Amino acid sequence: MNIAKVIVDVPASSTNQTFDYMIPDKFTDMLAVGMRVIVPFGPRKIMGFVVDITSESTFDKLKSISDVLDVVPVLTEELLELGKWVANETLSLSITALQAMLPQVLKSQYKKELVRLTEGRLPDDMEYLFAGRDYIPYEEFEASPISYYQLQKLVQAGEVSIDYLVKSRITKKKVTMVRPAKEMHLLEEALADLAKTAKKQRQLLLYFIEFEKPIEQQRLLKEIQTTTSTVKALVEKGLLETYQQEIMRNPYNDDEFKRTAPLPLTEQQQKAIDPIDEAIEANKHDVFLIHGVTGSGKTEIYLQAIQKVLSKGKEAIVLVPEISLTPQMVKRFKGRFGSNVAVMHSALSAGEKFDEWRRIQRKEVKVVVGARSAVFAPFENLGIIIIDEEHETTYKQEDQPRYHARDVSIHRGQTNSCPVLLGSATPALESYARAAKGVYKLSTLSERTNHKAMPKVDVIDMRNELHAGNRSMFSRTLKEKIEQCLEKGEQIVLMLNRRGYSTFVMCRDCGHVKECPHCDIALTYHKNSNQLKCHYCSYEEKVPQVCPECSSDLIRFFGTGTQKVEETLTTLIPQARVIRMDVDTTRRKGAHEKLLGQFADKKADILLGTQMIAKGLDFENVTLVGVLTADSMLHLPDFRSSEKTFQLLTQVSGRAGRHELPGEVIVQTYTPEHYSIEMASEYNFNDFYKREMGMRKAFQYPPYFYLALITVSHENHVKAVQTTQQIAQLLLKNVGNNTVVLGPTPSPVPRIKDRYRYQCMIKYRNEPHLRKYINKIKTIFADDVRKNNLLITVDMQPYHMM
Ligand code: ADP
Ligand code: ZN
Ligand code: ZN
Repeated sequence: MNIAKVIVDVPASSTNQTFDYMIPDKFTDMLAVGMRVIVPFGPRKIMGFVVDITSESTFDKLKSISDVLDVVPVLTEELLELGKWVANETLSLSITALQAMLPQVLKSQYKKELVRLTEGRLPDDMEYLFAGRDYIPYEEFEASPISYYQLQKLVQAGEVSIDYLVKSRITKKKVTMVRPAKEMHLLEEALADLAKTAKKQRQLLLYFIEFEKPIEQQRLLKEIQTTTSTVKALVEKGLLETYQQEIMRNPYNDDEFKRTAPLPLTEQQQKAIDPIDEAIEANKHDVFLIHGVTGSGKTEIYLQAIQKVLSKGKEAIVLVPEISLTPQMVKRFKGRFGSNVAVMHSALSAGEKFDEWRRIQRKEVKVVVGARSAVFAPFENLGIIIIDEEHETTYKQEDQPRYHARDVSIHRGQTNSCPVLLGSATPALESYARAAKGVYKLSTLSERTNHKAMPKVDVIDMRNELHAGNRSMFSRTLKEKIEQCLEKGEQIVLMLNRRGYSTFVMCRDCGHVKECPHCDIALTYHKNSNQLKCHYCSYEEKVPQVCPECSSDLIRFFGTGTQKVEETLTTLIPQARVIRMDVDTTRRKGAHEKLLGQFADKKADILLGTQMIAKGLDFENVTLVGVLTADSMLHLPDFRSSEKTFQLLTQVSGRAGRHELPGEVIVQTYTPEHYSIEMASEYNFNDFYKREMGMRKAFQYPPYFYLALITVSHENHVKAVQTTQQIAQLLLKNVGNNTVVLGPTPSPVPRIKDRYRYQCMIKYRNEPHLRKYINKIKTIFADDVRKNNLLITVDMQPYHMM
């Protein structure tokens, strides 16, 4: 067994395979699958992952592995398999799929060092190497005669660790520890000798006589209720000693979270959790969909299901959309499970993320709460995966590998024989359709736990405002309600639905939006050519001068920014104190929390923001929610736009009246009759589902059809069109009669960085070999890709068409 199969870090299709390397003697005892190595590759030395170790190779004359980067595998065997699956599903390179599972720190070159963790004696040669130091450069180890195998054993025993110098050492967190400096019987003697008046000193000594182990100084002081001078006095007597110890950067202070106990479940909650508990008990994979209105107690179900998993000694992954990963959310999990929870949040520094990841790897935690990529947490005894707000499109990664965390979760659930739990107030159509067919198990929570009704939604027709001479973006009703709220000292959340800024054309008189006659999707305004285009079927027309419906000349592009709204608001209602939250005001790290904190402290009356304020926020004093332009998303060139509008309106409505005070919602729109707005205002998911399913069926979209999107880009316009055309033709030759191949069509953003982009969309129901065809096509163009700077990207589950 002296040959390693390695996937090398060269992201190209020509190297998308394993390469064989000899394992030098010094590594044979310790090298394992899942470790990173450095190997010679052509003239260079590069990183690679060991995916297999064998004794045979079809090649003679193999090169040798130059170096091993890990002594403990960074990828488990399950994750290596999963990487293969992800690469295959998403048609991405193996190396890209593997890299996606690791924290950033492990992807770059950082200096390493060996850190002593134990106070006990290390083996002689290691003790010699450390020579009294707490940490040494990794190179010193490499230059020493100590074997990698020996180091590996020490790391596994937790006596030393290999650290990455992500930041300079000075910023690493250290704490002062206190420990006995003498043997116990000597401490006892000293205690007898201590003056009775030295009460605190006696207490301190007693503590160590009782517990016999080191403790963090700060905790000790808190426990004994004393100051450092007491410790100092005992240190001077030679009874105790203090030393510095490095600690993991745990970004959350676990002591701060008040522990919560499981709540007695409501009848609906109990009915929903019973089958999940059974699946956990039986180690059985199943997908559960909990359709529960906001405030119906879904999170409590997650918590209790996790409890069950932990009691079986297993682990849990909880995925939450990045935006919802608020301190409030973290508190609920840390409150229940304390330091057993790791949090993977993009706002953490690279070092913090790495530490959280390592806490999982070292089995120091059993629960991870995190955004999309936490689905790759290196647990080895997984008992459940939970996806909150499962309809959120942020679960789809928009870079290679273009995976959907829901699919990855279900795959891991199958591999680990454990349940996967999806939860949402507005499930994705795809998920609900699967539940309706019995593929997923559905539970419905129709009531809020506090038995309060959902807030009443008032839909305001903005065309009437215009006709009444009100050209402002605030309807008279909304203005009035805001003023009433201010008088009562209550707070307001205003949402501006800004996505789709300036991209569609709408008549301000009658609300008419130009749509494609073949696709039922809004046409997109192209400024350069002054054309309206459909991004699904290439249909185009000139921008009309007057509205084709009502002949008004008030037809224009639609969109407003939050800044503009803020200005209007301050002239309209000068007494209102406004906090604006959008991409601009939340760019800086921590700004998001700070603004929300200010709002919670009632330093402002109105929280004005984009969709980022729709999610997960819970303020007692908010009684009014206003949506300024409910329809701006409706006309995006995206077949999911009705669904997204429905979801967003439902979600933002849930922000009002969550506590004692009753809430109210005002939705302003130019298209009040649109079914997504009408049904969202009635919280009528079931009718919306039926209606939208009908549309999807008629226009051949998911969940009735699968989609695949191939995007071609090149500096030369003609080359981009021609290549896409060739691809479409090649596909048409292979696919079945019922499969639709559309294109070449210009991408919604037709040129990025001087590259022209064209796309080809495939709609299919049953195409078992589609991935094979596409791969074949990719090899046909491989030369062009390599030599002529052609780019072909494939998305097997496109969400983001813009
Ligand atoms: P969701 O996740 O569906 O929005 P939550 O789990 O956040 O709902 O529950 C909403 C509120 O109801 C929370 O304040 C929660 O503490 C409370 N709650 C949840 N379950 C119960 C229960 N069984 N009994 C009493 N209160 C509950
Ligand atoms: Zn009109
Ligand atoms: Zn069209």
